[in-house]
Amino acid sequence: MGRISGRSMETAIVVHGGCGRVEESSLEERRAGVRQAAERGWEILRAGGSALDAAEAAVVVLEDLPLFNAGRGSALTRDGRIEMDAALMDGATRRAGAVACVSRVANPIQLARRVMDASPHVMLCGAGAEAFAVEQGLPACDWRELVVADRRCQWEREHGTVGAVALDARGGLAAATSTGGTSGKLPGRVGDTPIIGAGTYADQAAAVSCTGTGESILRMTLARMAALWRERLGEAQAAAERALAELTAEVGGEAGPILVDRGGGFAIAQNTPHMPVCAIHAGGVVVRSHTTGS
Ligand code: ASP
Repeated sequence: MGRISGRSMETAIVVHGGCGRVEESSLEERRAGVRQAAERGWEILRAGGSALDAAEAAVVVLEDLPLFNAGRGSALTRDGRIEMDAALMDGATRRAGAVACVSRVANPIQLARRVMDASPHVMLCGAGAEAFAVEQGLPACDWRELVVADRRCQWEREHGTVGAVALDARGGLAAATSTGGTSGKLPGRVGDTPIIGAGTYADQAAAVSCTGTGESILRMTLARMAALWRERLGEAQAAAERALAELTAEVGGEAGPILVDRGGGFAIAQNTPHMPVCAIHAGGVVVRSHTTGS
């Protein structure tokens, strides 16, 4: 089981780029991508911005990079289309926004934010979500514009989901996650990512974003469990590992939760060989992609 952990004095952001099996040759680029995203979020935190804004902005960076399975570069459904899921949650207020099965927006995480801020709902899906995007003035796009040629190499797309968790200077926590889902999924399938408590969760004590086998993460409500273990155990890394171990033992499957807590402690756990991550906190920058080593 892989891990890195740390503690910051104030703000912190951790970003992941999915826990899948990918070509070794793409790892450097993936590490660069998560670093770019974390730096974007970090700039916002350092300027006094909120954890929610930082996490959302970090995820937008990765949705725009074709190497990751979110936004542009998303995995394809069994019938060769793109259907994306995304969610974010603000820990201080427990407000949340989510979208599922959307094909006509380039940045689903921004639509999730609009659902949270400008609708009375937590989640919208499919055509209704897309109509809401238009109403909100988000630019519509054709899903074909999001297909990246080498993305037809579908195994590469497994678990390239992206996510970010952040702690701001006021002690606010937030989580954001975005995905194209699993390669070859049935049209209409929704994974863990947009389900609050499964792939994405934040409260006043911890923020968690998950990647991995959605069908396993859903059944374990992994993000909520990791936050709960943080409360019980009082330590970020132990909590992430405990939640992951429970998933492995109870339902099996691949997973990689990342967590930041209100004290600035952060954790990354994974039961797969690869997961590009970048953590930036008061103590420095950690970038890595393997379970062990860099
Ligand atoms: N968890 C995502 C899903 O099942 C996949 C991933 O993490 O790459 O939709």
